[in-house]
Amino acid sequence: MATKNKSTIKPLRLGAGWKYAPAPESSASAQIQHQYELFIDGKWQPPKKGAYLESINPATEKKLYRAAVATEQDVDKAVAAAQKGFDKYWKKMSGKDRGKYIFRIARLMQEQARELSVMETLDGGKPIRESRDIDIPLACNHFFYYAGWADKLEYALPNRTAKPLGVAAQITPWNFPLLMAAWKLAPALATGNTVVLKPAETTSLTTLKLASIIQEADLPPGVVNILTGAGETGSALVRHPNINKIAFTGSTAVGKWIQQETAASTKKLTLELGGKAANIVFSDAPIDQAVEGVVNGIFFNQGHVCCAGSRLYVQESIASVFIQKLKDRMATLLVGDPMDKNTDIGAINSAAQLDKINQYIRLGKKEGAHHYESDARLPQKGFFCRPTLFTKVAQSSRLAQEEIFGPVLAILTFRTEDEVIEKANNTPYGLSAGVWTDKGSRIFNMSRRLKAGVVWANAYNLFDPASPFGGYKESGYGREGGWHGLYPYLTF
Ligand code: NAP
Ligand code: MG
Repeated sequence: MATKNKSTIKPLRLGAGWKYAPAPESSASAQIQHQYELFIDGKWQPPKKGAYLESINPATEKKLYRAAVATEQDVDKAVAAAQKGFDKYWKKMSGKDRGKYIFRIARLMQEQARELSVMETLDGGKPIRESRDIDIPLACNHFFYYAGWADKLEYALPNRTAKPLGVAAQITPWNFPLLMAAWKLAPALATGNTVVLKPAETTSLTTLKLASIIQEADLPPGVVNILTGAGETGSALVRHPNINKIAFTGSTAVGKWIQQETAASTKKLTLELGGKAANIVFSDAPIDQAVEGVVNGIFFNQGHVCCAGSRLYVQESIASVFIQKLKDRMATLLVGDPMDKNTDIGAINSAAQLDKINQYIRLGKKEGAHHYESDARLPQKGFFCRPTLFTKVAQSSRLAQEEIFGPVLAILTFRTEDEVIEKANNTPYGLSAGVWTDKGSRIFNMSRRLKAGVVWANAYNLFDPASPFGGYKESGYGREGGWHGLYPYLTF
């Protein structure tokens, strides 16, 4: 009889409730100063108005360092220094010599990779495993990659004489601080431009450390200037008349403002903005591999990823099995101390961001979607969020349309290829997407029809310096990475 065969042993939820011995990375390698000044003209200089902002460690809420707030006068000074650096040194230097400097920066970063990783995790809250294995190595690789382009521009662009634009203003967000600085600095320097860069106010530390690496690399004064500060510093930089090019990564709202502000100018502009990526799983996909990919797509870096796979479209016939497997896997994810090498999900970057995520979770419940979160125990202090998913999500709901920028997955189902393409494309964004299927022809069909700058197939969140990255629609325009990433810094 069926009941006799019924097992009394509960199914094993792999890893759920397992206790791991703590494996903390030491913070001893990070020499964090109490206070940082502005890096202008190759020197550390105090801000004209003398104001500083405090940056905290979001996992402990303890103060970490103070960074100068650059005002309009400091922006003016930095832009003048960058102009001088351009005229006096950088535009006159051969590509071969520029390449040597960029290569030197890459080598010094590599030598100091442990310190950079620890700083990134302490300042931003991402797990040390990610800073160590993803952010910092990729940042180094971007400098290595573009060092190789500096003396090859004439071969890459035959029969055209490429010239640098001059002074570039670069503004970076808090989710990948050093990596975004590398994405911007390396191609600008390789093409002969000089730079004024502003990091995000909650995560300036590794960019400030990069300034000291640049000093150590003996880059001519004024070629790279780093200005810390809040949004006003960024807007002063955007408005400065002697800026020739703006590279911005951040929110769509600020990106739109920059677009309006520069519309009547000759400033060249590239924008890397938000996203609401669809991760699409067909019934013929390797299911366990796809579960891992979906987990990686949304829970990696606490979901603080512009290209996060924040909408899962799973084919109806496998939906219940897939969602159960996903829940089982979520139960094994360790949330907590970002400095612990076991941690999968670290701290949310700020109290404000955690509030925003929680508002979306409340909204999802109110909209009638079914809520599930893991039962991970959260630390008492710091900003943390359990991995969360919603099922029964309506295509038109805000949960499926708006960027949450946290570890919250909206799950929807579909029956046919045409249906899922229509649904996946139905957002204002167009940055990235993922497709999971056994069929090569389907991958080609989907990647052609999905309106996304990047489409991963049977993989997610893979990056390479040689591969261009960027979106369209409200995700911005222009590309970073690869030889496409050289174009925005050149004129012909
Ligand atoms: P954000 O508020 O737009 O800030 C981005 C940067 O712009 C920060 O350095 C910020 O300084 C500065 N800023 C703020 N207001 C400004 C203004 N009026 N003029 C000039 N600069 C200004 O975005 P975020 O919250 O830091 O980053 C999250 C967003 O970035 C998400 O929407 C995400 O999708 C997007 N993002 C996109 C990509 C991509 O490649 N497409 C990559 C990463 C992140 P403060 O920090 O001091 O305010
Ligand atoms: Mg911080």
